[in-house]
Amino acid sequence: RLEVRNVSCTFDGREVVRNVSFQVEPGEIMCLLGPSGCGKSTTLRVVAGIERQSAGSVHADGKMLCNEVFATPPEARGVGLIFQDFALFPHLTVGQNIAFGLKGSKSEMRARVDELLERVDLAGYADKTPHMLSGGEQQRVALARALAPRPRIMLMDEPFSGLDNRLRDGIRDETLQLLKEEGTAVVLVTHEPEEAMRMADQIALMRDGQIVQKGAPYNIYNAPCDKAAAAFFSDIN
Ligand code: ATP
Ligand code: MG
Repeated sequence: RLEVRNVSCTFDGREVVRNVSFQVEPGEIMCLLGPSGCGKSTTLRVVAGIERQSAGSVHADGKMLCNEVFATPPEARGVGLIFQDFALFPHLTVGQNIAFGLKGSKSEMRARVDELLERVDLAGYADKTPHMLSGGEQQRVALARALAPRPRIMLMDEPFSGLDNRLRDGIRDETLQLLKEEGTAVVLVTHEPEEAMRMADQIALMRDGQIVQKGAPYNIYNAPCDKAAAAFFSDIN
């Protein structure tokens, strides 16, 4: 269970995230939805531990991960990440990238790698290196790598944006279904209302660094908090 409490983030005197709070239960998908620059990625970076907040705290399963003065290092948080810039290790094979940081016997790791490659539609790619792959293929390897250690919390920053429609819908739906089955608390960042409506259990609508409305997709769609929120959803049919 992830809990973000009153997190603010200031750069050069500008508050780009303002008093953001939300909770995500195991097996639940929370979508952070909002226009470019509203603070979605910054919020995720604070939860991941690669950015420090100026105020507020983050908690996982009741344990504090960070506040204004204290921070658990990213690798000790049990938090999986898949970000817009999904850098793979260029000198490692696809299989080594996915197995990076996994514990277990060689055969166990190999089985896990093969299972994940199959899931992202890249069976047989384990021994290739990243430069032999297209951008969308690299993105799917990054997805497999994020899933590999079965984190309790998964942060996904527009992880499906570079994929073509057919591939995206399949991989997105299957990946999120798997995370739900494993009881992972998922935060999915998107600027597409349709994706949020389709995938989210809860939506947090962000604007200018703040959450302006939070609730079930159906409720937000039917009762947007103001004209701007209504306009944001108006393109969906
Ligand atoms: P997008 O949909 O375009 O990815 P976003 O909602 O993820 O947008 P953020 O990346 O969180 O937006 O950025 C929010 C604001 O904070 C932007 O105006 C950005 O320029 C600014 N910002 C983010 N990181 C930093 C930083 N390290 N230093 C200074 N400003 C930053
Ligand atoms: Mg972003």
